[in-house]
Amino acid sequence: MVNSCIPEAGIEDYAGRLIVNKAKQRVPLIGVFEPTFRCNNRCMHCYVNKGANDRRERRKELTYSQISRILDEMAEEGCLFLLFTGGEPLIRKDFTQIYTYAKKKGFLITLFSNGTLIDHALADFLRDWPPHSIEITLYGMSEGVYEEVTRVRGSYARCMKGIELLVERNLPLKLKAMILTLNRHQLDEMRAFAENLGLEFRFDPLVHQRIDGRGNPAKLRLSPRKVVQLDLDDEKRRIEMFDLYQRSAKAPVNPEFLFRCGAGVNSFHVDPYGLLHICGMVRHPSYDLINGSLREAWHSFLPEVRAQTWKKDDPCAHCNFHVFCGQCPGWSQLEHGDSEKPVEYLCQVGHLRAELFRRENMNKKPFHAEVGGEKNEKKDQEKVRKAGSYQGSVRNKDIGLSRL
Ligand code: SF4
Ligand code: SF4
Repeated sequence: MVNSCIPEAGIEDYAGRLIVNKAKQRVPLIGVFEPTFRCNNRCMHCYVNKGANDRRERRKELTYSQISRILDEMAEEGCLFLLFTGGEPLIRKDFTQIYTYAKKKGFLITLFSNGTLIDHALADFLRDWPPHSIEITLYGMSEGVYEEVTRVRGSYARCMKGIELLVERNLPLKLKAMILTLNRHQLDEMRAFAENLGLEFRFDPLVHQRIDGRGNPAKLRLSPRKVVQLDLDDEKRRIEMFDLYQRSAKAPVNPEFLFRCGAGVNSFHVDPYGLLHICGMVRHPSYDLINGSLREAWHSFLPEVRAQTWKKDDPCAHCNFHVFCGQCPGWSQLEHGDSEKPVEYLCQVGHLRAELFRRENMNKKPFHAEVGGEKNEKKDQEKVRKAGSYQGSVRNKDIGLSRL
C-alpha cells in the first residue's frame, strides 16, 4: 500500500542528492564511455564521427576484453551511472555483449543513439535488459531536413522506426535535438512530435568544433541573437535561465581554478582507444587506461588536471557571465587549442542572456532578440568588446547583478 504522507523520490532526485553528497568525497560516480567514434550517419555538425566502415579506426578501438576490464575497474571505484555514447555505439558488432556485461555489473546505463540501428531484435533486447534511459537525437522533422544534416539517405525513416519500436516497448526514451541553421524552423515540430509520444524533449543550439580540428561545424551555428530568442520562446528554458541569473548573483567567481564544473570531481570520460579525460570536450591531457588503471587515473592524474589554474589574465577568470555563456576549458580547446581563451561566439550569447534576464529581473519589457537582424549583431559585438570581455574583467554591476 502506498503511504501518501511520504513523498516518492524518483531515481533522478536520488541521483542528484548522491552526486552532491559524493562530490564532497570525490567518488567517480559518473562514467562516460565512447566505445567507438564510427557512425552510420555523416552529420554536418558532428564533432567526432568517423566512417562506419573505417577499418583503421576499428582496429584502434578497445576490444571487448579491454572494455570489460575497464568496466570492472569502474565498478570497483564506485561508478554508478554509465553513459554509452559515440559515434554511434550501436554500430559495434559486440555492443550487446558490452552492454550486457555493464548491466550485470549493476551500472545504471544511459544510451545515446541516433536511433537508426534499432530494429525489432535490438528493441526486444533492450526491453529484456532495460537501460536507465535512452536518448535519441532528432536532426529535423522531415526527411529532407533530417537527411540534409545526416547526409545519409533513408536515415530519417530508420530513426522514426527506431523510435516507434522503443515506444511500443515502453522503454525510457527521451528525445533531443541539435538546433542548426538547417533545422531551426522545425524545432516546434520536433518538440510537438516528442510531446505527442509523451516523451521528454530538450534541445541545444550551441555547436562546437570537432575534436580532430577538421571541417567547420561552427558554420551551422545560429547567430547569438537567435540562440537567445530560443531561450525566450521556450517557457521552461526561460524560467531556468532566470533562476540561473538570480542564483549567479550570490555565487562568487573563483578566479583561481580553470575548471568550474563537476568534471573530475564526480565524473570522467573514456574514449574508444582507452584514453581517459576529465571530460569529453577536454581531450588534452589524457591518461592511457590500457597501460594504467582507473584508480591511478582518478587519484593521481585527474586531481592534477583539476588543479590547473588560470595562467593568463583572461577575462573569463573573473567574469560572472560564465553561467550564461557556457564557456569552459573544453570549448576554448576546441575553438582555439587554448584552454583559457574566450570563445567570442559564446561571449556574445552570454552578454545577451545577461542583458535579457537583467531586464526581466527589473520587470522591464523583454526585447525580441531577433529584431534588428545583422545591425544588432554588430552592435552586440561592439558592446561585448566595450564591456571588457576581451580587455579586462567584467564586473557584477555590468550585468546588474548588484541590484539583486
Ligand atoms: S548521428 Fe551522432 S555520432 Fe553520428 S554523425 Fe550524427 S551527430 Fe555524429
Ligand atoms: S568573458 Fe565572455 S566568454 Fe568569458 S565567461 Fe565572460 S561572457 Fe563568457
